[in-house]
Order: sequence, then C-alpha cells, then structure tokens
Amino acid sequence: MITGIYDFTGTGLYIHVPFCFSKCAYCGFYSTVPDSEKISRYLQRLEDEASARLPAAAGNIHTIFVGGGNPLCPDLPGLKRIFEIVKNHVDLSSISEWTFEANPENLSDEIAAFLKELPGIRISLGVQRLDNAELELLGRRARITDVERALEICGRHFSNFGIDLILGVPGCQSIAPALAQLLEKLEIQHVSAYFLSVEPGSLLQQRIENHEFPDPDEADPDELFEVRQVLIDAGFEHYEISNYARPGRRCLHNMNYWKPGDYIGLGPSAVSTEAGLRCYNPADLGRWLADESPAFEQLSSVDRRNEYLMLRLRLLADGFNLTSFERRFGAQDDNFHSQVLWHIEQGNLAQENNVIKLTPKGIIFSDNIISDLFI
Ligand code: SF4
Repeated sequence: MITGIYDFTGTGLYIHVPFCFSKCAYCGFYSTVPDSEKISRYLQRLEDEASARLPAAAGNIHTIFVGGGNPLCPDLPGLKRIFEIVKNHVDLSSISEWTFEANPENLSDEIAAFLKELPGIRISLGVQRLDNAELELLGRRARITDVERALEICGRHFSNFGIDLILGVPGCQSIAPALAQLLEKLEIQHVSAYFLSVEPGSLLQQRIENHEFPDPDEADPDELFEVRQVLIDAGFEHYEISNYARPGRRCLHNMNYWKPGDYIGLGPSAVSTEAGLRCYNPADLGRWLADESPAFEQLSSVDRRNEYLMLRLRLLADGFNLTSFERRFGAQDDNFHSQVLWHIEQGNLAQENNVIKLTPKGIIFSDNIISDLFI
C-alpha cells in the first residue's frame, strides 16, 4: 500500500524544456537546437500557458518536475525566468518536491547555487553510462570527466540527487561494478535504470536496420539483476521496475503518475491528465508557439483499468489491492482471477493479504504478465 509521505493527493506540474544541443543516437523525442530567440519565445509562451492553465490548480500543486530535452539549455537567466513563471502562478509553500533534470556537461556551480534554493529541490542527473566509449556509442555529449565533475557539484550543493542510467546496451560491460564504486563515494539518493530503448527515426535505429548494431531487444537481462543487487546491498528500495530510492527518497512527482494521479504539463509535447481526460500539447516548438490546440483523448473505463493495473504492478513495493481495484473498476471476471492465480503459482506474482505484487522473477516477464491481466 502507498502510505505516509507517498500518500498525498494533489496535482503534479510538469514543465517540458524542448531544447537539446545535439541528438543522442537512440533518441527519437522531439527536441530542437536552441538559440537566444527560440529560448526567449519559449519562455514568453510558457508564461502565457502558465497564466491560462495554472490558476485553477495552483493551490493543489505539490510537486514540480522540469524535464526535457535538456532543461539546462536556457542557462542561468532562462532557469531564473522559469522560476519566476512558476512563482507567479503556484503557491510555493505547498511544494514538497521540485525536480530538475540536468545533463552533466551543462551543470555548473553557478547553476547549482541557484537551483539549491528552490523549494524541495531534487536533481536527476542524466549520467546514462560510466564509460567514455559507451557514452560515445550512445551519442551523449558528456564524457566521464563531465559526469564526475557534475556528480561532485551535486555532492557539494544537494542533499537529494539521483542519477539516470541506461542498461542493456549491446556490447557493453555491466555497469554494476562502476556503480558500486560510485555509491561508496557519493550520497546518491535515487537511481533510475531503464533498458535502452531505441526510438524510431533515431541514428541507432538506422544502424540496427543496416545490421551495423545489434538489436537491444535481444539484450541479456543479467545487468538489471546485477545493478539491482548492488543497489539493494547499498540500502536502496527497488520501488518501481526501473527506479530505486534510499528510504524516504522515492520521486514524489513520479509516484503521483504511478498512483495514478492527475497532472498538468506545460511546454511542447507535454501531456496532462485530469479525471481520465488526457491532453497532448503539440510536439513541435513552432506549433506550440503558434498556440495550436492540444489533442484530447477521453480514456475509456477499460483504458483506465488497464493503465491502473500496469502502473500499480510496476510499483513493486506497493502492487495493487484486489478489493480496492474491484471497488474502483467493478467485479473482475473468472478469467482475470484465474490469470492472477496462475501467475502466483508460476512465482511471477505474490499475494500478501489482499495485495498483489510482481515478484523479482516476474520483473523480467512483466510486460507479458501485465498484458495477461488486460481486457
Ligand atoms: S536523450 Fe535527452 S539529451 Fe539526448 S537528445 Fe534525447 S532528450 Fe536530448
């Protein structure tokens, strides 16, 4: 069950910064290379969008997440403007967490000194790999010296910072030994570790199609379990399939997504959800600047049921309560109950009282298990 500090009701605010100085080899997300005019127009439009959309929710916003793209592209003056925009529309005294994603090569002492004054500040550093050749293979701009420098800055300025890693990169050594060494040196509070996902249209996708690079879908899952063991040995809780936290350091903003709760997204390609109505901002700076209307999708009760199951099973430490689930989505049919039972017998799911959770064995088959419970 989600309890205590994770059991809050409120709306998360996501601000998308759509700029990257260059494209990583695996990335298919929308982003554009910044210049001073684009940044200035982006910030003006962000102010307008915040004025239009935040007043109704302002008092109910408890978490803020500034992501990208590369949120440090607007540099210190742009970051100060983002802060002003938020301050103008949100009651900062109700903010319990404010996450900033940061690319290592762009984090400076000057920026850190500013960010550390934000309420509830938490830094999520996009480290990805701990080896130069691997960073280069992924088309990252940062090199290991940038990563080490940024980690030192985080250690000096922030009590709550975490790192993002990419696992399952074909041909790369397990990151687990280097991660263990890093955890001995620094008080890292949170680790996100996702398998490499090669997006359509990315450089790596082309290389895979040309048979110049192995398909990461065939990657060995061993690295995940090695990383998991390192983190558990270091005192982390494996609380979501791809996320680990020291006690009390789960990402509150993402917990709200996974609960699942409502959230507001500002900026190009940002998504918002309120009471089952999902709203997609245009994934293009020009169209968003031109105030093109978002696309709307009303989630059906089946969509909401399936999404709830998926998100809650991914929350390994919490799972879902069968009684609450049926109260919310109605009595489930025999097929659902027999699928749950079958996966419990296979050791993929576990039942404690009335709560169903994925087991460590089930992590590797989670997509199949979850889709077996979909209607
Ligand atoms: S992975 Fe992140 S930093 Fe790299 S191009 Fe994509 S959005 Fe930009």
